[in-house]
Amino acid sequence: MGETTERTQTIYGSCLCGTIKYHITGDPALKILCYCQNCRKSTGSLGMANSIYRRENVTITQGHDTLRTYKDNATNNGSTVERSFCGNCGSNLFCENKEKGPELVIVTSGTMDLAAEQTWEPVMEFYCKDKKTWLDTNVETRKFEEVPTAFDNL
Ligand SMILES: [Zn+2]
Ligand SMILES: [Zn+2]
Repeated sequence: MGETTERTQTIYGSCLCGTIKYHITGDPALKILCYCQNCRKSTGSLGMANSIYRRENVTITQGHDTLRTYKDNATNNGSTVERSFCGNCGSNLFCENKEKGPELVIVTSGTMDLAAEQTWEPVMEFYCKDKKTWLDTNVETRKFEEVPTAFDNL
């Protein structure tokens, strides 16, 4: 039990230019890798590595005015995913689906400034059908060809 308490320490994060800063308390509901086309286009990379938190656990402490939001309507289930990024440096920071998960905020793990004792490891992988064949994940995860129905809002 003591271990759990230690892991729930505050996580700080920021965009590349440092204009937007946030902090998170508590444990994420889920840590995922997603290789869907929207996540690849949005990051310009292999996919997204995200943590899902309850909204009240995530606080933007600086740079609200610089945060821009792209309403991604081209999702597989037709709902809108709001993808928020820094208007100055372009870092992807948050995703929200206010229709399907109004109480949740998705935070990009790459913007987290993790302390030495804090780690980020995925527990699930979505859209593995789009995952590069040479890309190996060296931790145990539950892998899905697409996305399980319970999470189709992500
Ligand atoms: Zn920035
Ligand atoms: Zn995705």
